[in-house]
This record gives sequence, structure tokens and C-alpha cells, in this order.
Amino acid sequence: MCPSPICPICDAEPETVEHTLFRCPWTRAVWFGGGKSFWTTDLVITSTSKWLEDLLCGNMAKETTMEDMAAIFYQCWAIWKSRNAFIFSGKPLNPKETIEDASLGVRDYLFALFKGPKTSTPRQVRENRWTPPPSSVVKFNIDGAFKSSRSLAAFGVIARDSGGTAQFWCMGRTIATSAISIEAWALRIACSVAMELDISEAIFESDCLELINCFKDSNSSGPWEIRTIVEDIKEWANSRNWSFVWCYRENNKVAHWLAANCLSRNCIFSSDCIPPTLQFLLDSDVMR
Ligand SMILES: [Zn+2]
Repeated sequence: MCPSPICPICDAEPETVEHTLFRCPWTRAVWFGGGKSFWTTDLVITSTSKWLEDLLCGNMAKETTMEDMAAIFYQCWAIWKSRNAFIFSGKPLNPKETIEDASLGVRDYLFALFKGPKTSTPRQVRENRWTPPPSSVVKFNIDGAFKSSRSLAAFGVIARDSGGTAQFWCMGRTIATSAISIEAWALRIACSVAMELDISEAIFESDCLELINCFKDSNSSGPWEIRTIVEDIKEWANSRNWSFVWCYRENNKVAHWLAANCLSRNCIFSSDCIPPTLQFLLDSDVMR
């Protein structure tokens, strides 16, 4: 904590753990926006250790799913990181960014839980909805479809802003040797578009874990057939604020629809005429 006992963010209360994580005014926006205010600010948290005990082994534990639990801890962690970035580097506080940071953590955690050796699965873990990017960031969802019998493949790319409005979308057919190669191709198209449109802050989301993992490890560029593409993209991303994120298939509906439709019906829609199914999928992604 700081040398002064008063919170350097709001200047209103002593900077206790309870204040820093739950009561400082900006954190309320995080808890509210992250949908976890019921577990935190609605109850008066006078002692974090008592609250934790109740959350982990008391009455609250019974009504808290694994997903909620993960969200609460990741939000605490994200608040702490944002608070430090504000105090030590002067980075402005942005509750939306903090929420996004926490939700990425939750997603990674739940995925690790699923893939882990444990046989028990959490009661309720999937959030089957696309999540919008923070403001000023564009999120690209990409997908590939592959017909191995004919080496035919198609890709779908959709770019949306924080309000869920489509900024750009495209689909196309090509020849591919494998499913991973069309996924990488789709990502390459999305990155080229981002460069063309001069988008320096972007999230590229795919449901292909093998592809996304290539960007987690600086020493690996994945299987041979996508190596050149991955290396190109890594180079482009070097000078930009781009992140590569994995998502569940059901959170990637629009890109999947574009790719699958293009492959099966060989139809290409123009950007100024959005087909009704696509519009429906876009709307249902942002519906609350
Ligand atoms: Zn404060």
C-alpha cells in the first residue's frame, strides 16, 4: 500500500484492502459491469478475510458456481493490477478494460480446468455469448470450414466494435490441405484487413486452440503448413497492440456461419447487403 493512508484514487477513505478492492468508487463500476456486484458490493464487506471464508466454505459457497468464483477472484486480481498501473505508471483507470482483463483470465482458467486431468467438471462454466471488445478496440472473429474430400475450404471474418456493430466482414473460398491451414488463412485475412484499416488495437478471436496457441509461445509457430503465416502475423503484431484469443465455438457463431455458408453454397454476399441470418446472428450476439 501507499505511504499515505488515504486512497490515492478517490482521496476519500483510508486505503484498506476492503476499500481498494470493493469500495473505491471506480471498482463499483467493475463489479457492476462484470455482473458480480451481488457477491460483493451489495453486501457490506467489512473484513475481506471473513468474506473470503464465507465465499469459500460458508453459506455463499453453496450458491456460487465455479464460474462465479473464478470471476470474483479474477476481478479482484484485475482491479489490483489496474490500481497499480494507475498509481505507479499513471495509466488511466478504465473499468471496461479491467472487466475484459478479468474475463480473459476466467476464460483461460476455465479452459485449463476443462483440459486438465480432473474428472469433475464445474456445474456451469460456459458463457455462450460473444463478448464485445473494450471501447477503441476492434474484435475480429475468424473461422474456417474445410471439406477434406475435395481439399475445398472457406473462411469467414467479422470485425466488430465495442457496441457489437459490424465494421467489416468477408468470406471466401480457397483450396487448403488441412483444417488448421484454413484457420490460419482466415486469421491472415483478418490481420491484413486490420493493417489496411490502420487498426492498432485489436483482438483476434478464434475457436481453433492449436492456432491461438502458436501466439502464446514465442518459440513455436505451429505445424509446418501454417508456419510462414504465423511468423508473418507475429511480425505484424510486433508493432501493434494485437492479442490473439481462443473462444468456444458457440461464441464464434457469426464467423462460423460466414465460413460454413460460403463452403456449402458458394455464395458471397456483398458488404452493403447483410443477409437476414447474418443480421440475426449479429443481433443475438449483442442482446442482453
Ligand atoms: Zn478510493
